[in-house]
Amino acid sequence: MFADGDFEAVEQAARIAALRAANGLVAHHINADHSDMQGTRLACDHGHDARYAGRRSRTVTTVLGPMTLVRAWYHCETCNAGFAPRDRGLGIDAGPLSPGVLRMVGYAAGEYSFATSSRMIDVMAALRVDAKTVERHAEALGREVAEDERNVVEPEPMDAPTLYVGLDGTGIPVRKSETEGRKGKQADGLAKTRLSERSDKRVYGNPTVMGTQDPKCPS
Ligand SMILES: [Zn+2]
Repeated sequence: MFADGDFEAVEQAARIAALRAANGLVAHHINADHSDMQGTRLACDHGHDARYAGRRSRTVTTVLGPMTLVRAWYHCETCNAGFAPRDRGLGIDAGPLSPGVLRMVGYAAGEYSFATSSRMIDVMAALRVDAKTVERHAEALGREVAEDERNVVEPEPMDAPTLYVGLDGTGIPVRKSETEGRKGKQADGLAKTRLSERSDKRVYGNPTVMGTQDPKCPS
């Protein structure tokens, strides 16, 4: 069927074609959904009144390759900065790497140098993530995991009737004290839920108990 040595070229070419097709499908699906336009005014992270400023594109690195996403964009004059609500939902608000690529970076950089990690991700996943980007994100992940460890060491007493356990980037209702200082999606700019993305981003992910909610406890 193939001459000797051709199979690798064929499998590599087929992988790239398959990734490109899947990339287009996913991008189309996301970009066709305009539900991230939440009115002409929306509170920014600091609770200011931000104004809708059309849809803006951004290219992020995903496991399917560079993907261009077009998202609703809001501009806050007070902060003199803009934001896309969808970025947070997709987990790309902190940088140009998708959650899937971030996981690869976490695994690789947990074992190898930043340069080796970059080469590994290129060879194994056909993705270009330069060593500097690996370094920046590995350090951010490290800080996050360290903070996570500190929080897990001293859990709250489990005396509440309902226990919520989070595994994915889902918002989980928590006590008000657990969202203090966190910016949220509520009309008052405060958080009512807390993203359980910590467990998703940690290098060696374990289910993390995010908190408890007592119905008698005002939230
Ligand atoms: Zn603002």
